[in-house]
Amino acid sequence: MRKFLIAIAVVFAFVLLTVLIAIVVSENDKAVIEKRVRNENLLTIKSDWKGTPVDAKGRFINHEFPFLPKVKDLLAWQLSGNPQKEEKQTDAERLKILDPTEFLQSETDGILWLGHAGFFIRLNGKNILLDPVFGKPPLVRTFVDVPSPLEKIKRVDYVLLSHDHRDHCDEETVKQIANKFPQAKFYAGLRMDELLKDWIPNETQTAGWFQQFKLPDENVKIYFLPVRHWCRRGLFDTNERLWGGYIIQGAGETIYFSGDSGYGSHYKETAALFPEIDYFLIGIGAYKPRWFMEPNHNSPEDAVQAFVDARAKFLVPMHFGRFDLSDEPPSEPLKTLNERAWEMNLSDKIKALNINESLVFEITDEHRQTQMERKMIRKFYPKD
Ligand SMILES: [Zn+2]
Ligand SMILES: [Zn+2]
Repeated sequence: MRKFLIAIAVVFAFVLLTVLIAIVVSENDKAVIEKRVRNENLLTIKSDWKGTPVDAKGRFINHEFPFLPKVKDLLAWQLSGNPQKEEKQTDAERLKILDPTEFLQSETDGILWLGHAGFFIRLNGKNILLDPVFGKPPLVRTFVDVPSPLEKIKRVDYVLLSHDHRDHCDEETVKQIANKFPQAKFYAGLRMDELLKDWIPNETQTAGWFQQFKLPDENVKIYFLPVRHWCRRGLFDTNERLWGGYIIQGAGETIYFSGDSGYGSHYKETAALFPEIDYFLIGIGAYKPRWFMEPNHNSPEDAVQAFVDARAKFLVPMHFGRFDLSDEPPSEPLKTLNERAWEMNLSDKIKALNINESLVFEITDEHRQTQMERKMIRKFYPKD
């Protein structure tokens, strides 16, 4: 029996090695833009935009820095040592995990951080989840384990997914949300519906960059925007699905959600279309080693520069401290962000949250007006 198991293990290792060699050898493709695509049913908001670029094999391509991720680079990183290994091991600082119940069960508009890239946003009365990953996802190492908030959530209207990576798009979480909230609508980048339709029956809409989703009412507006990243869930589906960031608008607030991104001109491009961003939700972690991460993940310094480019009011940092995805120690991203913000005289702009901490919007006149209208509507239609 033991010999049999060893033989199986050897065959498995051989097959895996052969597949890896085949992938590495076939990875000489250059990212060349061949044509442009969009969702023809949605509005494109940038007048001179020809559509989201794809290459000859139909893979999506970044418009500013064309890029195809290489398995050989991933292997080279994994086989090289981490120069901060000891520092990372001894870094005992962890994010605090608060109780989200009060905000989740209230009717107050605001933003609650679920850890990593996950947020629960209530805007103009709509409950919106961004990149939710509840509990402990498979194959992802964690610095802190966050209990699932699902049973405390009373309603979900929209779920926004930035891209298909497992720290942003978790099959089990998506299924749990769809099961509890069959009316929840899912929004994502082009071809993400092909993944989601195998998981859930909920209504799903996909957009190309610079497109506006069609929502059932006017309470909020949601737009899909380019960021510098990539997609893959398996070994052979590189860039088959589209990645992106979001603008969410309502009740006088404009929120930007970056998903995952390296630095580029897209922040200025976004600001040209949305010049009054209030909350700028941006990743600051998983940025080392820079040679490997730089095309895909901002460093904290990049994030501050992106915030300046976007001319936004407040920066809400994310994508650090929950999942262990890179070489830097867990407390380094936030420290570096705060140092950089201090150097640039921007410390009062940083709204760093603990996990499950919420941030209630400053009440503007427009906000007050829409809040009042909502209360009126509730009064007349109390069951709505
Ligand atoms: Zn990613
Ligand atoms: Zn990520």
